[in-house]
Order: sequence, then structure tokens, then C-alpha cells
Amino acid sequence: MRKNVMTCPKCENPTVPVTRDGATTQVCAACDTPDRTCTWCKVAMSKRLVGNGTYLHYLCPKCRFQHTAKFAVT
Ligand SMILES: [Zn+2]
Ligand SMILES: [Zn+2]
Repeated sequence: MRKNVMTCPKCENPTVPVTRDGATTQVCAACDTPDRTCTWCKVAMSKRLVGNGTYLHYLCPKCRFQHTAKFAVT
């Protein structure tokens, strides 16, 4: 039986449900969030949604530099 998990049409990664304005939306953390490169290493940082989809957490795979940004979908 297929699990009730929506996959992203672009990258086919599972989307995560986030609640915005009282409605639950499926968001692909990989595609629907802006990319960010590490200030020092200039490599692409891994990203994930935190705070029920209201914040983006970036992590550099090399130096472990972390950055959090407000994430709002219009
Ligand atoms: Zn995607
Ligand atoms: Zn770095």
C-alpha cells in the first residue's frame, strides 16, 4: 500500500507538509527554497525547513557553518 506521501514533480523527493495561514501545504524543501552557498567555502549548503515551514535552516557540509533564514511562500 502506498503511503500518503506526496513527491515533488521536479526532483521526486518527498515533500513536507507545512502549515501556513491555517492551511496545510506540501512543500519540497529542495526545490521550493532558495539555494545558498557557504560564505567561506562557496559550496552549496544543505537546507531544510524548520519551524513548521516558516524558517530555512542551512548547513555547510564542509565547515558546519549554519544559517537560518525566514521562509515565506507567497
Ligand atoms: Zn523538489
Ligand atoms: Zn563552509
